[in-house]
Amino acid sequence: MRWALPPLIIAAVASAAAAQTMTQAEPITATQGQLLIASLPAGSHELTLDGTPVHVEPDGRFMAGVDRDFTGSKQLAWVMPDGSNAQAELKVQPRGWDISRLPARLATPANPTPEWLAQRAAEVAQIQAARAEPSAHDFWRQGWAWPASGRVSTHFGAQRIYGDTPASYHSGMDIAAPTGTPVVAPAAGVVRLATGPFSLEGNLVILDHGRGLHSAMLHLSKIDVTVGQTVQQGEKIGEIGTTGRSTGPHLHWGLSWNGVRVDPEALLPPLPAEAPAR
Ligand SMILES: [Zn+2]
Repeated sequence: MRWALPPLIIAAVASAAAAQTMTQAEPITATQGQLLIASLPAGSHELTLDGTPVHVEPDGRFMAGVDRDFTGSKQLAWVMPDGSNAQAELKVQPRGWDISRLPARLATPANPTPEWLAQRAAEVAQIQAARAEPSAHDFWRQGWAWPASGRVSTHFGAQRIYGDTPASYHSGMDIAAPTGTPVVAPAAGVVRLATGPFSLEGNLVILDHGRGLHSAMLHLSKIDVTVGQTVQQGEKIGEIGTTGRSTGPHLHWGLSWNGVRVDPEALLPPLPAEAPAR
């Protein structure tokens, strides 16, 4: 998922009023649910995506997440090293998703007790707090490794529709493997949450990869890390399990960029034959 910015075109349209120049770069193509990791010319700064500031590194590297259900285009704008303004259209292409249509009678009736709702609210607050503050780490730049060996049992974006009612889509990727299979960090990160079992997530670990990018590893049978610890890519953080709302042993890996959920599987190399644990 790496791309270089295409050559800049339609350069230097002078404004008589401010003597400013605006460079219009070639459109950039992304896909729904994608985490873009890309480069602007070194020294570019003040990058925005549809007006929202996005961190850009001194060498021009940046990332941006695209929502699964976004359609249309976004606008990237930044200041070039020479102080001139530049912009590029980010065209988001649709992607197909695994959709299962099931009879309405199979939908699980929601019937939470007040006690369950109170516990759930506390759990959600902990998860939100763990992801609240974007850090300045640059672990997100290092590339990605499989967090466990196994079979991908559910892809990001999969969705069940009961009658006419869509359930919320699957916000990560599932890797099915026996309980006790090692789970390792897919990239280096700081442990922001290591707790459980939560009612849905079971035992979970949240890793901070920097600049608002977080991994959530769910349903673990065992946790090997503590909050505040920095783990390296490939370092063991726990073991696969089936804690929380889960129908069998698997790892759910969710990846979010400043609240935008993106597809981790799209970042991964082909699955290695050997377990990545060490
Ligand atoms: Zn899952």
